Amino acid sequence: MGYIYFDNAATTKPLDNFLDNKLYSNPSSVHEFGINAMEAIVSVKKYLAEKIGCSHEEIYFTSGATESNNIAVLGSNNKSIITTKNQHPSVAGPIKALHQKKSTVKYLDVLGGFLNIRELEYAIDQDTTLISLTHVNNESGITEDIKKLGFLIKKNNPRALFHVDGAQSFGKFEINLKACNIDLFTFSAHKIHGNKGFGGLVINKGVNIKPLFYGGQQQNGIRPGTEDAMAALAFKKACSAAFDNIQKNYQHAATLRDTMAALLSEIPDCVINTDLENSSPYILNASFLGIKGEILLNALSEKGVYVATGAACSGRQVSNNLIAHNFPEGHAESAIRFSFSRYNTVQEVELCVSILKGEVKKLRGES
Ligand code: PMP
Repeated sequence: MGYIYFDNAATTKPLDNFLDNKLYSNPSSVHEFGINAMEAIVSVKKYLAEKIGCSHEEIYFTSGATESNNIAVLGSNNKSIITTKNQHPSVAGPIKALHQKKSTVKYLDVLGGFLNIRELEYAIDQDTTLISLTHVNNESGITEDIKKLGFLIKKNNPRALFHVDGAQSFGKFEINLKACNIDLFTFSAHKIHGNKGFGGLVINKGVNIKPLFYGGQQQNGIRPGTEDAMAALAFKKACSAAFDNIQKNYQHAATLRDTMAALLSEIPDCVINTDLENSSPYILNASFLGIKGEILLNALSEKGVYVATGAACSGRQVSNNLIAHNFPEGHAESAIRFSFSRYNTVQEVELCVSILKGEVKKLRGES
């Protein structure tokens, strides 16, 4: 049976694995193989630094966005934190743990998924040490104007660190970290057709970060442990495919998303939750009112159409992240997230909606 995979915000299909066997050596070894492995890692960091506007020495490879977010939140000066109520659990979790122990935390409300800039400005004071926000929300695709927010944060308190979870925007949106005043930036490989278990954190020079694990001096001791040159090169391959065609891929996603939104409008009581003007084209969140998201998801899955009710990390429950979006009553429970990649086609969108029409009718007892 063929299938339609519209769950690319959860993860993407990896490109063919890259293997250069000579690079298995420990990059900290001082013989030729080791030196080659270290050079490969540095070359990947240099490539990436140029793409996202930072120095290669500021890039730390990690096991993915979860680890990066934890290092950023737990390892920084986190005495007084500002965040929003709709964060990914890998940001919300460590912040909650700090809140219970020692930190002051201000949680900003989000309306329809957006934070209120005036409320943010009001919340920042001279004690604020860390502001942690998401660029593209993984449930709704809602996209914050990170440059504007970075400017506002530094205007109100230049010492406050600005952490951005870029897991859903990295390789999809052009970004210059310095121009956005970002101090800590999280990214992940498997959202852009790279491998799971690989990602990174950009740490602005001058920002003091305490490691979560203690070990050797790899990556300045901030993220110790033997580095993997082969994984770094595989990541570069995924990055090249994303960054080299960033505009083309974005346009393609926009075509898929807009076609989907137009076709969904033919389904009675289907509402688009995502503000299409201010969201990533890679994610479309819609509610089929009166039908539980999970029930529709299962019906679609039986037909070979794979979507999500929300983040995969929330399992089958409606996530706190989605609930915090403050969508109108009944929307979160009946929400479905469609998320696209450059490998999806308009034909898949059309087929998906035609299957959806039938399943929605059935579940509403109309056929
Ligand atoms: N942040 C966001 C916004 C995400 O969407 C995800 C993945 N669901 C993560 C963090 C965690 O990423 P990883 O799987 O690389 O740990």
